[in-house]
Order: sequence, then structure tokens, then C-alpha cells
Amino acid sequence: MLHSRTSDRDQETPRRDHPKGHTLSYLRAGLNVLTVDVEDYFHVQAFADQVSPRTWAKYSSRVVQNTHRVLRLLKEHDVQATFFVLGWVADRFPRLVRDILDDGHEIGCHSFFHRLIYELTPDEFREDLLMATKAIGEITGGPVQAYRAPSFSVTNRSLWALDVLIDEGYRYDSSIFPIRHDHYGLPGAERFPHLIERSHGALWEFPPSTIRLGRWNVPVAGGGYLRLYPLRLSLRWMDQLNRVERQPFLCYVHPWELDPEQPRLPGRWKSRWRHYQNLRTTQRKLQAVLSRYRFAPLGDVLKSCGIEKCVSFDEAVAERPLGVSTG
Ligand SMILES: [Zn+2]
Repeated sequence: MLHSRTSDRDQETPRRDHPKGHTLSYLRAGLNVLTVDVEDYFHVQAFADQVSPRTWAKYSSRVVQNTHRVLRLLKEHDVQATFFVLGWVADRFPRLVRDILDDGHEIGCHSFFHRLIYELTPDEFREDLLMATKAIGEITGGPVQAYRAPSFSVTNRSLWALDVLIDEGYRYDSSIFPIRHDHYGLPGAERFPHLIERSHGALWEFPPSTIRLGRWNVPVAGGGYLRLYPLRLSLRWMDQLNRVERQPFLCYVHPWELDPEQPRLPGRWKSRWRHYQNLRTTQRKLQAVLSRYRFAPLGDVLKSCGIEKCVSFDEAVAERPLGVSTG
């Protein structure tokens, strides 16, 4: 069984607040996970201090065309992914959610209003979650069981959110980033897929991928990190996860990251740098990743990892018929 190593500073994390987990020990089928957070360029945390949800309807939306750009790429590479859809997007563009489903992808939830969980009360979080689950579930016609928090905002301050997710029928989560960051992160958390046991039940967690460099977990496979690093370095680190650590990686992308022509919003230089750097490289880099590795939706990969190692996995997912893994 593999456990992530923790540095001295990481061990400052209070263990009683730390999610317990059983790390899966190997990659059975060579499958990785690609996730897509379906949101528009004006929904993002980087500009949340400039753009209130009350004004979202005034912006020119590009999420439909940009998500279709992602769908075309995935179809070209015969890859199926997990799309975490913002409830606000599902509410306004139900046809887009049906198009994603029709292409055989898994649909998850990315909240309704894209608010940071650690700034909400448990009741506010539950209210937002129920709105989003309803908006998405009415289109998919089935239970919504996979969750991605806005800006990975499940941290030491908001681990209670896992209990709310379990209460509301969620089975998988991908919201705990095991790194240090100014907006998110839980540096001592497990790096690989694991079952989190809470007083309310259990939930499978697939963290965004990191590699271990010295004392640090370094994020490697998605979003701004994929845009920032040279492609060759990203591929080397993804290879390392599959071949040396024998684990699946999770790569994430946003539809707006494939849209260099999106309208520019005002904001602090750091926010603008994070959001706009290397947008022109995303499509090329994503194509390279899609060509090189095998992928399947989150629920399928967790099943392929866990089915022989952890009996409770089947119990956890038994209510959801799983699709066919691709690759
Ligand atoms: Zn988001």
C-alpha cells in the first residue's frame, strides 16, 4: 500500500482534521482520468472580486462553443472524460449537457454559483449543492454522483463538505488538492485515489495529480500548470506517475482555456497572469496528452483501480451502472 510521504511542515496539519483514506496500490488497466470543469470565463475565482454572480447574465457566454471544442478533440482521440458542470450552466444551456451525455461522457457537478466552500456555512453549501444537483439531474435523468469543488476549495477549513456530499448521495469527489496554494490545498492529504471514511459514510477521492519533488508536492497535470510548464516536462511527469509510481493521473481542463480570443476582464496582475498565460498552448498540449495516454471517466477508473483491492468499492458504487471503459 502506498502512502504519500509528508514533510515536517506537512505534519503540522492536524491529523484529527485529516481525511482518513485507504490508498489504492496499483493501476490495473493503465487508465487515467481527464476532467473538464464546464464553466465560462467570467465564472472563475480569479475574477470573483470583479464579477458578481448577479451580473453573470450580462456577459457574452462562450461556454457552449468552447465545450464543443473540447468534445470534438475528445471524439478525435476516442477519449471519454468526466465533465463537472456548473449548475448555472446546466440551467441555461441544458442542450449542452445532453450533447456531453450523447458523446458518452460522465456528468458530475461543479456547484451552482462557483463559490468557495470554505467561505460558506454547511447550510449554504448544501443549498448550492442541491440547486446544482437538481439542475443537472433533471437533464441527465439519473443520480449525480461525482463532485468537483470550485477552485478545489475542500481544505482543512471545509472538510465538513464531504459529509454533506455523502448525505446527498455523492460517491466520488475530486476537490482535495494535496499542495500549498494561496486559495486552496491540503498539503498533507493523500496524493492518489483513496476511500475517505467519514462519520456520515464513505466517499472516493481522486486528487488532482502531483509529483513529489524533495519535500514538496508539485501539481503536474492540468489547468494553469499544464499551460505553464513546457509540454515535455508535463509528459515526463505524467509518465513518472504511470510507470514509476504505478498510479493513474488526473488531468483537468476548462473550456475557456482553449479560447485565446475570450474577452479580457480587469483584475489584479496575478489573477490576470494565472488566467491568461499560455492560452494559445492549451489545445496543442491537450492533444499531445490525449494521443499518448489512455483515459476513462472517473467512476470507471476508480472501479478499475479498486475492484480487486477494496471490497467496499463495489458497495460504494453498486447503485450506479458503470459505463464501458475506453482505450
Ligand atoms: Zn471552476
